[in-house]
Amino acid sequence: MTAPKVVIVGAGIVGANLADELATRGWTDVTVLDQGPLPRTGGSTSHAPGLVFQTNPSKTMTEFARYTVEKFLSLEVDGLPCFNQVGGMEVATTPARWEDLKRKRGWATSWGIEASLIDADECVHRWPLLDGSRIFGALHVPTDGLARAAKAVIALAERASARGARFVGSTKVTGVLQSGGRVTGVQTDQGEFPADIVVSCAGFWGREIGAMAGMDVPLLPLAHQYAKTSQVAELVGRNTEAAEASMPILRHQDQDLYFREHVDRLGIGTYAHRPMPVDASTLDPEVTETSMPSMLPFTEEDFTPSWEQSKLLLPALRQSKVEEGFNGIFSFTPDGQSLVGESADVRGFWLAEAVWVTHSAGIAKAVAEVLVDGQSPTDLHEVDVHRFEDVQLAPSYVSETSQQNFVEVYDILHPLQPKLSPRDLRVTPFHARQRELGAVFLEAAGWERPHWYEANAPLLKKLPHDWLPPARDNWSAQFHSPIAAAEAWHTRNGVAMYDMTPLKRVEISGPGSLEFLQSLTTNQLDKSVGSVTYTLMLDAAGGVRSDVTVARLEPEVFQVGINGNLDVDHFLRRKPGGVQVRDITGGTCCIGVWGPLARDLVQPLSREDFSHTGLKYFRARKARIAGVPVTAMRLSYVGELGWEIYTSADNGLRLWDALWAAGQPLGVIAAGRAAFNSLRLEKGYRLWGTDMTTEHDPYEAGVGFAVRPAKGPFLGAEAIAGRSEETAARRLRCLTVDDGQTVVLGKEPVFVDGAPAGYVTSAAYGYTISLPIAYAWLPGSVDVGDAVEIEYFGRRVAATVAVEPLVDPGMERIRR
Ligand SMILES: Cc1cc2nc3c(=O)[nH]c(=O)nc-3n(C[C@H](O)[C@H](O)[C@H](O)COP(=O)(O)OP(=O)(O)OC[C@H]3O[C@@H](n4cnc5c(N)ncnc54)[C@H](O)[C@@H]3O)c2cc1C
Repeated sequence: MTAPKVVIVGAGIVGANLADELATRGWTDVTVLDQGPLPRTGGSTSHAPGLVFQTNPSKTMTEFARYTVEKFLSLEVDGLPCFNQVGGMEVATTPARWEDLKRKRGWATSWGIEASLIDADECVHRWPLLDGSRIFGALHVPTDGLARAAKAVIALAERASARGARFVGSTKVTGVLQSGGRVTGVQTDQGEFPADIVVSCAGFWGREIGAMAGMDVPLLPLAHQYAKTSQVAELVGRNTEAAEASMPILRHQDQDLYFREHVDRLGIGTYAHRPMPVDASTLDPEVTETSMPSMLPFTEEDFTPSWEQSKLLLPALRQSKVEEGFNGIFSFTPDGQSLVGESADVRGFWLAEAVWVTHSAGIAKAVAEVLVDGQSPTDLHEVDVHRFEDVQLAPSYVSETSQQNFVEVYDILHPLQPKLSPRDLRVTPFHARQRELGAVFLEAAGWERPHWYEANAPLLKKLPHDWLPPARDNWSAQFHSPIAAAEAWHTRNGVAMYDMTPLKRVEISGPGSLEFLQSLTTNQLDKSVGSVTYTLMLDAAGGVRSDVTVARLEPEVFQVGINGNLDVDHFLRRKPGGVQVRDITGGTCCIGVWGPLARDLVQPLSREDFSHTGLKYFRARKARIAGVPVTAMRLSYVGELGWEIYTSADNGLRLWDALWAAGQPLGVIAAGRAAFNSLRLEKGYRLWGTDMTTEHDPYEAGVGFAVRPAKGPFLGAEAIAGRSEETAARRLRCLTVDDGQTVVLGKEPVFVDGAPAGYVTSAAYGYTISLPIAYAWLPGSVDVGDAVEIEYFGRRVAATVAVEPLVDPGMERIRR
């Protein structure tokens, strides 16, 4: 088969890397078009100072950065590698930052990056310009450094061109050509360029190119200041013109600053100024020696506070001045991550945007893998452009959240920290009642989700002593309340109502819907009407791309509980004609009624039989509860008797009120996500995206029970044939923390025999078992009963690999 004809829009660091990655894989019919002259096109790459700090909370982003470093080290221009591996230093000038750097060292260890914490003296030794009295220490990563981004573009273009790719400058793409829902090429000011695949690597012009294909690209160009000082006496003679720098790249995040050497001058970048959004379509595309579209005039007044802070940290700068500067433009997004993927409407139209130089080679490799091989071994869900909900694509939302990301880019962010604005974008029908109960809401996918209810505070006083959780450290106590313990107790001993509305669901219906679902999932769905099945969706390589719950409500009507928009996109792309996929999340709502008294609450409200035999475990039925038409599914993510009760949004409030009123004599409570998360971990229920991703097969992830190879062919079946829990080289394991009190939050490294061996995924305090729980990826050789250590803020905490589930392994609590 001949390789397809590819047009890449944009010859910046992303487009050049992609051309190289495709050509390396044998796709050589690649044309890279740029509106600017080559190689200095006038995009962000043309002036990028190229600092590469690899460590990131995201494993995927860290791996992208590591690949960029490795690749650029192997690229040469003018006899020099395209990466100057001077190392990276992030200094702490506050106790909070110093603590946070310990956490960050943990991420580095988790993702396999060598990193150490160094004291102030060592910092000054490595960076003699620093005022050591101002700093507590630094995180030092020896493999970080400076990408020579503009040079790398030249090297990549040369290599790709030698393999057949073409780079064409001064050619502006003005339209995306399409026919029958497929891309056929691009229109430019120099004529048409036919293509089977078009990839937009247009950087901060991404929104404009996306619009040409009818796509909302949630990206905001923002200006960011970069300045160079005059000569600094202390730097004279340190560096050659060619190497430019020899000290580590430096971050001073407490003041939103970073620094690098330019021979005997310093470059200073700042995020301390006001966000300065830019409309890319208004920029003059002309490139001269001194100007280009991505460089706006320097607004000196915005830089003044950063200059003062720079002189405090680096007193040697007092003898120098700011000699030049510019407001450089690059892309921000609502969640700070890149945007990668294929348009849902125009097949063959892809994008790879909002990408830093740091991640450029890694993202280009992943896109090339997806294009050429059909999937990447790297989990891409965090960067998939289809991850956003509709409300999150509104220009006002994109603008506000992207600007907020600019402001917070160097802030210490707690993993549970919600946005302050915009809020109340999506509320469930129960919202007013939840407010009355003092719900403390966190936000996810635009939804307001109660994490606990202050109204339950008095219940804490009545808790049995062994249910009282130990006091938490300051970090894990944030966005948390011990009230969750009372909510967990009531779920295990009474009855609680959980708002499950935000968990996304679709209705899949029409002729062929069973066969369609069977072809995409691992478990047997060809069961009677009323069946509910937990099943997995795999990619072609056998990685878990989602776990879903399928209820067969009619012979050809299925309600499918999914993990998010990526699943909707997956279904829509593959569905045959005749099958309908409808997102019913917003039009419906769901209350989880769970606990040993759940039946006492629900049965009197309904004529239908909610007994153990009347509605068996993993069965669904339509019913009326207090007159409200519902679909009840006997499932429990918390491991207690009860049902997910669905109704249409208009009926939601009445359903809540009826259950609430009937539950009063039983002591019903409303319970939130904090209790929920703890209870689900006690039961060993995995959370896709956190505990498992496409990087894991079902057996490694401990969900092999949902695979039925005998049911017939399904996507990914061939890849996992012959695999089992026994063959798994790594396993998702349940740990309990030995000290009984340290509650970690996820992503911490786990050590076996003193060496890093894995990382934590989900964690919570297990109220029922009076121990903190952490799920973690560990080598297959690590077994139940083995002792391990979790590193939490630099401290090693002993933990033990436990048999799972920790609570009710016999399922007696649910099946009664
Ligand atoms: C001041 C500043 C400092 C930075 N510092 C760092 C750093 O230290 N480390 C780091 O990792 N990142 C840094 N960045 C970010 C980084 O520079 C960018 O994220 C990166 O260069 C983006 O690369 P790109 O290839 O996506 O975009 P670009 O380099 O902007 O390339 C996109 C290309 O698309 C072309 N194009 C657009 N529209 C059209 C069209 N209609 N037709 C044809 N061609 C078109 C443009 O001309 C452009 O050449 C910094 C950015 C700035 C502004």
